[in-house]
Amino acid sequence: MKLVVAIDGPAGAGKSTVAKRVARNLELTYIDTGAMYRAVAWKVLRENKEVTEEAILAAAKDIDVALEYREGKTHVFVDGTEVTDAIRTPEVSRIVSLVASLGPVREKLVELQRRMAENGSVLMDGRDIGTNVLPKADVKIYLTASVEERARRRAKELREKGHDVTLSDVERDIAARDKADMEREISPLRQAEDAILVDTTGLTIDEVVAKLLTLCRGAA
Ligand code: C5P
Repeated sequence: MKLVVAIDGPAGAGKSTVAKRVARNLELTYIDTGAMYRAVAWKVLRENKEVTEEAILAAAKDIDVALEYREGKTHVFVDGTEVTDAIRTPEVSRIVSLVASLGPVREKLVELQRRMAENGSVLMDGRDIGTNVLPKADVKIYLTASVEERARRRAKELREKGHDVTLSDVERDIAARDKADMEREISPLRQAEDAILVDTTGLTIDEVVAKLLTLCRGAA
């Protein structure tokens, strides 16, 4: 049976961590749409000194973004170059919401995302999956947590990767990104009417995974 799961929510809510585990457990193909917007942002930074709307549109025009899921990890490619780690820097995070606010960028990536979900069972995470990309998904989850907890998790993750960040900087960046994602004109981040709200504040990863598995199994 085909199962389509959509997970949306703000930055640092733990979407990709739990999504990967739920997808593996239920044998669904995991599609990280945030990685696709980050891929465009990475190309913009690589090719330009100044991040203008023109620069973003030029970089997005004939970009080839590919995701390959291998051994529990999403590998991301831009025009054939692997950018899996390069798209996770604070510099990319800082411009990605601007990149993702532009219509032509979204049109291109949403089309690609819908094509990726055409065949077989998928679990897709992002900001507009339940509201726009896959409105007919069998299960829609809106995953969130307090901004303090999300910042703590993200700061820990970045420090483990060797980035020298302060908690207050990470919290400020996350809050700014949420605001931009929620207030943009095209497909802003919001909970779909038929999505289930899961607040992960104070929950362990195992607890969140168990909750999501129950919700997905209930729909299968
Ligand atoms: O999920 P992640 O934090 O990697 O997403 C990076 C950014 O990509 C988000 O802050 C948002 O601006 C954009 N995005 C989006 N729509 C999606 C997924 C991500 O606009 N479906």
